[in-house]
Amino acid sequence: AALPLNDPALLETRCLIDGAWVGADSGATIEVTNPADGSVLAQVPKMGAAETARAIAAADAAWPAWRAKTAKERANILRRWFDLVMAAQEDLATIMTAEQGKPLAEARGEVAYGANFIEWFAEEAKRLYGDTIPGHAPDKRIVVIKQPIGVVAAITPWNFPNAMITRKCAPALAAGCPVVIKPASQTPLSALALAVLAERAGVPKGVINVLTGSASAIGGEMTSNPTVRKLTFTGSTEIGKVLLEQCAGTVKKTSMELGGNAPFIVFDDADLDAAVAGAIASKYRNTGQTCVCANRLLIQDGVYDAFAAKLAQAVGQLKVGPGLGGDTQQGPLIDESALAKVEELVGDAVGKGAKVACGGQRHALGGTFYEPTILTGVTPEMRVSREEIFGPVAPLYRFTDEAEAIRLANDTEFGLAAYFYARDVGRVWRVSEGLEYGIVGINEGIISTEVAPFGGVKESGIGREGSKYGIEDFVEIKYLCMGGI
Ligand code: ADP
Repeated sequence: AALPLNDPALLETRCLIDGAWVGADSGATIEVTNPADGSVLAQVPKMGAAETARAIAAADAAWPAWRAKTAKERANILRRWFDLVMAAQEDLATIMTAEQGKPLAEARGEVAYGANFIEWFAEEAKRLYGDTIPGHAPDKRIVVIKQPIGVVAAITPWNFPNAMITRKCAPALAAGCPVVIKPASQTPLSALALAVLAERAGVPKGVINVLTGSASAIGGEMTSNPTVRKLTFTGSTEIGKVLLEQCAGTVKKTSMELGGNAPFIVFDDADLDAAVAGAIASKYRNTGQTCVCANRLLIQDGVYDAFAAKLAQAVGQLKVGPGLGGDTQQGPLIDESALAKVEELVGDAVGKGAKVACGGQRHALGGTFYEPTILTGVTPEMRVSREEIFGPVAPLYRFTDEAEAIRLANDTEFGLAAYFYARDVGRVWRVSEGLEYGIVGINEGIISTEVAPFGGVKESGIGREGSKYGIEDFVEIKYLCMGGI
């Protein structure tokens, strides 16, 4: 059945290259399906290297005029884009839920969250300040200016089909860079709808290009083409490493938002009800499919049993169903392979002695639905401890003291988000400083906002997105040394 949209033109199924909506050279397409029921939503072009090279050339050609605009002119266009996105919030949410599966309420929230990056960077466009530095000799003066880096390639994942695009494109455009975007193949429709609105907002042709299709062919061209000066990627650590290697050949600047293995620590002095609410928000949002989802719940001895009981009670009440169906809180997993991975991880943990406190199997709804699950008695040898679960499974670990909690929390190659619940102010400082993570939620399970820097350390990535720091990834610093004064 057709999606109920107020503006059917937002369901665009062609790609945008140099201001033209086009199909693949070969005519080939890929299918976009609804994970809630497997139905086919659309066919989008299966583009490859040749189309990517053309989009990059178009972006490069559009660059001089775009960077020559005043910051205010670019800001005004971005502001119009923000307004159009918010005016289309309901349609964009419907499209997102259809292709991604998240509950409609979460999709609406993501559209607003995504739009916030456009608004924020429209404002930041005007504040790309440089520096003057006291000269090192009497006849010399030093000035630092910031300039747009050039053509930006963006590769984005399916878990946030809208916000991962705006979080990259808005700062790029604000800084004066053109972009070529490859959205995830599971969720291209949200990206194309955003591009329709960008065009209506007055983003000139060639400044935003969107290519759907073969990840390796499009990614191969993006990473090897010398005209691309910057690659910004959100996705798995595994693919991030491949892309970093590929970018080495032309020494591109890169931003990498990669996987996480977030610890969620509850200390004896925590407000347990707040900790349970935070754990539900952090763990089960988007059916556990976010890179900042709690991946390991470390609970101190004294409150372990009470926390586990309260959590099980709350998890038992989560309503599972299709995202477009009214009061759903848990949608399906994105696809069969995601489901298989979750089943495998739970099987491995149970095989090694973990206990299922709640859930633990495919949901009766069938398809890719999985029951919200809690595992107790989990140990570091189990795969759930080392790997990103990306599903609605909360493994509970027991610890005795603060030092052990910090050691367990840091015992991973990842370092994106961490959370902890405690009330002792000394402990709050010690633990905050001890966690090797880019983001720490303290008595808080939801940490994403456009005003704060999002990003990880260790193998979770390079660079920060959002906030005043986010635009820095899209500029080059140039130092002017003036002599003979
Ligand atoms: P996830 O596990 O979240 O799907 P991936 O890292 O596999 O994350 O995918 C994130 C994005 O990277 C998607 O847009 C995907 O199509 C793209 N991608 C996957 N493999 C490659 C590749 N070899 N080159 C470029 N992009 C890729």
